[in-house]
Order: sequence, then structure tokens, then C-alpha cells
Amino acid sequence: MERTYIKDLGKSEGQEVVIKGWVDVRRDQGKLVFFDFRDMSGKVQGVILPNQTEAHEVAKDVRPEWVLEVRGKVNKRPEKNVQADKQNGDIELEILGIKVLASAKELPFSSDADLNLDTLLDYRPLTLRRDREQNIFRAQNVIMQAYREYLDRQGFTEFQAPRIVGDDAEGGAGIFKIEYLYGHPAYLSTSPQLYKQMMTGVFERVYTTGPQFRAEKHATSRHLNELTMLDFEMAFVNDHTDVMKMISGTLRHIALTLQEKAKNELAYFKVEATMAPEIFPSMKLREAQELIKKETGKDCTNEPDLEPEDERWLCEYANKNLNSDFIIITHYPTSKRPFYTMDDPEDPGFTKSFDVLFRGVEIVSGSQRVHEYEMLIEKMKSKGLDPEKFSFYLMAFKYGLAPHGGIGLGLERLTEKFLGIENVKEATLFPRDINRIDSLLSK
Ligand code: ATP
Ligand code: MG
Repeated sequence: MERTYIKDLGKSEGQEVVIKGWVDVRRDQGKLVFFDFRDMSGKVQGVILPNQTEAHEVAKDVRPEWVLEVRGKVNKRPEKNVQADKQNGDIELEILGIKVLASAKELPFSSDADLNLDTLLDYRPLTLRRDREQNIFRAQNVIMQAYREYLDRQGFTEFQAPRIVGDDAEGGAGIFKIEYLYGHPAYLSTSPQLYKQMMTGVFERVYTTGPQFRAEKHATSRHLNELTMLDFEMAFVNDHTDVMKMISGTLRHIALTLQEKAKNELAYFKVEATMAPEIFPSMKLREAQELIKKETGKDCTNEPDLEPEDERWLCEYANKNLNSDFIIITHYPTSKRPFYTMDDPEDPGFTKSFDVLFRGVEIVSGSQRVHEYEMLIEKMKSKGLDPEKFSFYLMAFKYGLAPHGGIGLGLERLTEKFLGIENVKEATLFPRDINRIDSLLSK
């Protein structure tokens, strides 16, 4: 008999079916044995009635995580047992036969408990099977699809950036050194920045997604050492505000797509609908600092950057006063931004750069980039970088790049904030941090 997916069982009421999947929960009640079964499409309750001696015999050792092929009859549940809010809450599978496809050891944690972060990560191949984790990564998948969908519609071309690089692009973020062939040093990229820019000379509008590496010893709830960056870069911009429009549109599309395609996942985390206007509200860094001073008394007006508590305050302000869960802060000082960032001639010392803050944290950095060859070389020198080392990248500029700008967005932080979870590591399948690469480094 052909396999029926669990989500489709309701259509087979009164019929015999075969399902394949895992045991989620086992409950023994006198002579009845109940199971919740799980496959890629959902869950259903099954029961072995007392007269099914053969099935009882096979089932006697079966525990959570055993993989089974189950033959059974789909029955309507008596009215009093219907659980209307649950998938398959109105039916039950009367088990007629069980074939064991794989046995499983007893789980090292209680599957319905609230697990702490260490346990979640220590047993990652198993904890990922839980409802909560499945919901996180299903929602993340929708975010990825929506990101691609929006930019595809805007005429962007996706490309694959290399991850092994000859030098440090940002000159700021910590970088992992690796040993390349013949003893040559090489590095793991911290951002696809330079390649995106070169690619604007090819396709004008490009985006790329994938892992980037930061060799920083952070112990925060928002930093990973390997993250997934969603980057885009677009040519023929007038200035950074064109990029701000594009990222507003992208994030709004992601928010709306989640509300449509990840309804259950959002409901699981009980998050409020995201307020994402067509163009996100924005203010200059200096204006934001003045606002903080005026409203809270905290004077950060001479600081070159926002502290985490400032970012949280600004997001609460936007949520309460600007009908937006996103706020864009522009014009960070030249000293704080990478060499490829365009200065604003109308605001000396400040750049045509911005960060997007979402529910208390920076999720995006972007800017208009320097596209003139001579100016770029000057900017590199002023940051203490050797243009010789960038000759490959500079070739693109020497031979004409259009005015352009773009952004980098962290997928894990975005997922975390959309779902209202606590730590970016929970929104990462297999996080790399100061303590672990899968297992603890100290082991
Ligand atoms: P932060 O100041 O929060 O450390 P950053 O300014 O160094 O971040 P960028 O280099 O601007 O980060 O990277 C662009 C985006 O990539 C960030 O806005 C964030 O969403 C994400 N990101 C950067 N570094 C990390 C990291 N270590 N862990 C998780 N996400 C990150
Ligand atoms: Mg940044």
C-alpha cells in the first residue's frame, strides 16, 4: 500500500492507510497504548486496541523516536474527544500493524520540557526535531524564500561569492586565517562586500546569501562566529536613500510573506504582527542621539556609535510613535565605517551610511559606496590599508563602476526578532561560538 502523509489522513476517513514516521509520544492507559506519530507533514494520534495482540507485541519496546511503518484505519473521534484546535484533532488512527524501520535509544532530555541553551545545543541533532525548533527553521526557510522572491522581482541576479579570500575586506571585523596550499596564508571571508561591488559591473543588481565568518570573542545573545548573510548591491543609485527604499521593501515583503506562509509558526511564538511600513522611518545618528537626550536625559551626543541600550530605546520609540517595528539610523561617522563607504559632502565627517534596527537590535548595515577609483584609493590610504593588496578589486573601479550601494543583513538575527526568541543561537541550526563547534571546545 502506498504511504499516506499524516496531513492528508483526514481525507481517508473510514479507510485503511499506511503511514511512515517517528513516534513523538507514547502513553499507556490500561490495555490501550496511544502514540503520537510525526512525519514531515504533521502529527496524528494512533491507538492499539486490546484485541490487536500482534501489534501489542511489536509495540512493547517502542519509545519516542523509533521509526515505524504503521498500517491502520482512520476513524472519526467521538465528539467528546475532538480537539478542534489541533491538526488531526478530529480523527484517530486505529493501529492494525506495525513494522519497525529503526529503533532508538531513550532521549537524553524530556522532549516537552523547556530546555536551556546548553542542552538545546549539546543535543542539536535531536533537539532540532522538537516542535519549537521545527517552527523556527520553517519560518527561517520562508524568510529566505521571500528575500529571494522580492529581489528577483526587482530584477536582481543571484550569484555565489567565494568564501576563501586573500585579504581582509572590512579591515575591522576579526578574520579567521587558514593555511592555503603551498603554505600561502588565506582567510575566511567576513562579508561578500568586495565581490558584490565587482558584480554590479556585470549585472547592475545582484544579491548573494551564505555563510560569513567573524573571528570575534563575543559572549552576547546577538553574535555568532559563523553567520548567514543576505547581501545585495545595486548600481545607478542617486544616494543611500535608494538603498533604504529597497531594504524597506524587502523586509516588508518578508514580514507579509511570513504572515501568509508561516501563520502557524508565528502563532506558536505568540508574536504580534510586525509593523513594516512601505518606507521605514529614518533619522540621522546625531538626531537620534539628541532625541535620546531630550526624552531620557542620557547624553550620548558625542558618541560615534549607538550602544545596545540606545538601539533598544529607539526601537521602542518607533514602535510607540512611528507605527513601525523598524527604524533606520543614517549618517554614521567616517571613522566608524569601512573604507568603501561614501562620505556625505553636506555633512562633513559623516557618511551616506545607515543601519536598520528591528525590535531592539541592528539587523542591517548599508550605504552608498565610493565608486570613483581615485577617491577609493584615498579612502583606503586614510584607513591605513595598502591599495596594492586590493589591485584585483580596484580593477573593477579603474574600468568604470556605476554609482552603487547595498546592504548586509544577518539571517539569524532577523529570524530571532521576527519570532521574538531570546538568543541568536536558537535561530541557528548549528551555531559556532566562543565555546563550541557542535561540541564544546573545552572537551
Ligand atoms: P554588530 O555591531 O552588532 O557586532 P556589525 O556592525 O559588526 O554588527 P556588519 O558587519 O554590519 O555587523 O554585518 C551586517 C549584518 O550582519 C549585521 O547587521 C547583523 O545582522 C549581521 N551580523 C554581523 N555580525 C554578526 C555576528 N557576529 N553574529 C550574527 N550576526 C551578525
Ligand atoms: Mg553593522
